Amino acid sequence: MTTTLDQLRRPLGVLRLSLTARCNLACRYCRPENQDPRTLLTRQQRLKLIGVAARSGCRRLRLTGGEPLLAPELAPLIQAVKALDLMEDVAVTSNGVLLDRPLARCLQQAGLDRITISLDGADPQAVRRMGGGNSFDQVLAAVGHAQAVGLPVKINMVVMAHENGDQVIPMAHLCRKLGVELRLIEYMDVGNRNGWQPRQVLTAATMTARIDRRWSLQPVGRQPGSTARRWRYRDGGGFVSTIASISEPFCGDCNRLRVTADGMAYTCLFASQGTDLKPALDPRQPDMVLIRQLRSLWRQRQDRYSEERALRSRQAGLTPRPSPAEMAYIGG
Ligand code: SAM
Ligand code: SF4
Repeated sequence: MTTTLDQLRRPLGVLRLSLTARCNLACRYCRPENQDPRTLLTRQQRLKLIGVAARSGCRRLRLTGGEPLLAPELAPLIQAVKALDLMEDVAVTSNGVLLDRPLARCLQQAGLDRITISLDGADPQAVRRMGGGNSFDQVLAAVGHAQAVGLPVKINMVVMAHENGDQVIPMAHLCRKLGVELRLIEYMDVGNRNGWQPRQVLTAATMTARIDRRWSLQPVGRQPGSTARRWRYRDGGGFVSTIASISEPFCGDCNRLRVTADGMAYTCLFASQGTDLKPALDPRQPDMVLIRQLRSLWRQRQDRYSEERALRSRQAGLTPRPSPAEMAYIGG
C-alpha cells in the first residue's frame, strides 16, 4: 500500500463510488438523472477500481448515488469488498425509502459498517416540501430497521434557509429521541439545475446557535479529512454535527476521490471535468494501467474550490458559479 499525495500534500483516503445516477426521489436541491444501465460499471470493474484505490491509500469506501439502494449490485459488492478485505470501513448514503428490514439485515450481513440516511424534515409535510414526496414514514421506519439489525446510523439533513430552516430544532429533537447523530448540511452550489442562491444558505453557525439556545452544546471539533464538525449535547443527548462547505470550507485536508457510476473520476465535488477510467477498468488491461492513471490523477490534483469560493465571496460577495456536474451524477 502506497500513500499518494496531491499538489497540496493531501493523501488519498476515501473513495466515494456512485452506483447509479438514478433516484426514486427528486429533492429540491438535487437533480437526479436518467442513466442508461448499459453505461454502468460491472461488479468486476468496480472491484478492480476499489482494489486499486485501496493499494493507493484509500481506507474508506462510501457507496452513494443517485440512490444506491436502486442498485441490485449493492449487497454483492459489499460482500466481495469485505471478503477480499479491500477496505477498512464501508458505508452507504441513502434516502432510506427502499430500506426494509430484510434489506437492512442483508446489507449488515454482507459486511456494511454504517449507513447515513437523508431526511430533511421532522414531519411528513416538511419532507414533502423538500421534494421527498410521501416518504417520511418509510424513512423513519428505515432508521429503525438499520438500528434493529445493529447498523450505526447517522441522519443527513440539507438545510435551505427558507424551505426547511424551521426544521432544524424539530430535527434535532427527533434525532435526540432516536439516538442518532444529525448532520446539518449547508446547501451547496453543486450542479447547475437546482438554481442555488446564496440567500438560501443557512450557515452552520446560525444552526448551532439555535440548537445551543435550546440544548447547550460543547464543541468536539473536526477530525482531519472529515467533512463534519461535531458538537456534544452537554445533557448527554448525544452528538450533532455540521457540514459547512460554504461558510467553513475544509478543502485543506480533503482526501476524497469520487467516481461516477459510469466510471468518470472527479477529484472535487465542484470539479469542472472528470477523467474517464473505463479504458483502464477493462478487465483485459493489467491493474498497473489503472494504478498509474489513478495515482497520476491524484498527484496532479490541486482543487480547493470551496476555499476559493470563500475568498471570492470576501471580495465580491457570495455569487453562484454553477459547477457542471450534478450531485446525483457525481455522487454526493
Ligand atoms: N440518494 C442518497 C441520499 O440522498 O442520501 C445518496 C446520494 S445524495 C446526492 C448524497 C447526499 O448529498 C445526501 O445527503 C443529500 O442530501 C446531499 N445533497 C444533495 N444535493 C445537495 C446540495 N445541493 N447541497 C448539499 N447537500 C446535497
Ligand atoms: Fe435522490 Fe439523494 Fe438527490 Fe434526493 S439527494 S434526489 S434522494 S440522489
